[in-house]
Amino acid sequence: MKLLRPESVEEAAAALGNGSVALAGGTELVPLLRDRLVEAETLVELGGVLPRGIQDGGTRIGAGATLAELEVDPEIPQALREACSLAASPQLRSMGTIGGNLLQATRCWYWRLRFPCFLHGGDACTAREGVHSEHAIFGNELCASAHPSDPAAALLTLGARLRTDRRELELAELYRLPTEDDRSLTTLEPGELILELELEQPDASTYLKAMDRARWAFPLVGVAAARFGDEVRFAIAGVAPIPWRLGSPADLDRATPLAGTAYKLDLARTLVRRAQSAVG
Ligand SMILES: Cc1cc2nc3c(=O)[nH]c(=O)nc-3n(C[C@H](O)[C@H](O)[C@H](O)COP(=O)(O)OP(=O)(O)OC[C@H]3O[C@@H](n4cnc5c(N)ncnc54)[C@H](O)[C@@H]3O)c2cc1C
Ligand code: SF4
Repeated sequence: MKLLRPESVEEAAAALGNGSVALAGGTELVPLLRDRLVEAETLVELGGVLPRGIQDGGTRIGAGATLAELEVDPEIPQALREACSLAASPQLRSMGTIGGNLLQATRCWYWRLRFPCFLHGGDACTAREGVHSEHAIFGNELCASAHPSDPAAALLTLGARLRTDRRELELAELYRLPTEDDRSLTTLEPGELILELELEQPDASTYLKAMDRARWAFPLVGVAAARFGDEVRFAIAGVAPIPWRLGSPADLDRATPLAGTAYKLDLARTLVRRAQSAVG
């Protein structure tokens, strides 16, 4: 396997495709390569080319900023700081970038073990009939995986926009539910690079996370809330194949839990209530 160290975004973009894959902190990609869930002949290291600064009062963030840098910056809205600090372990947070975090693959054990399930191009979701205690309660008809990113939920409530080397888009537009014709969970084009995020500064925000242990666990349910004047926005991690926006707490009534995930709806209701009271 070759490792390329480009010196500009243009050089990195030109090197991608045809068996080469972008590498940021590597905390997600390296295990996927090792388990042969991703095949690559060349890794294109983004470390030298991605913006990683935090600017404009915490509202402009380079995609190469690490979760560890975000969790301690006082200008970063509280929901995002808390989401970063509750993610993974200190070692992973000091390597893992925010760009890579938004693009992490599902932790569904069937997918990781390469079962020929719907997301791998098969006919049906293995988890729906199988063991699915950590799976989805929304958008779970074809694939019941639960999106693992804590920061993505926080960023959804903060109205985050992404700048890539090709376009600008809302964070919500980065994600899509899989369909029969297209099984991908993001709209990122092959070789497209996320360069920067822009977000709004709320009056108050928070991120609350339920885990199966107190630290270093993916979200069973993670609720972000951000208040802008009288408007309170909510988004949830760990409940759908993509980070999930709630129009209002009443939208929880639209959940479609599986037999083994009904408990997540109780968790979500409790965390939404607590988050709402925390942001006033
Ligand atoms: C044991 C473990 C526990 C974890 N727990 C949590 C948790 O509780 N909560 C949570 O939110 N996350 C968790 N994570 C995920 C972790 O936060 C991510 O692995 C990390 O943020 C990914 O960033 P990276 O820079 O290492 O990405 P990489 O591994 O380098 O890349 C990940 C993917 O993104 C692509 N990529 C990276 N940067 C860009 C870019 N700028 N533009 C385009 N493509 C890009 C890569 O090609 C690759 O496909 C955990 C991870 C592990 C291994
Ligand atoms: S939840 Fe998604 S990834 Fe997991 S088995 Fe079902 S289709 Fe595959």
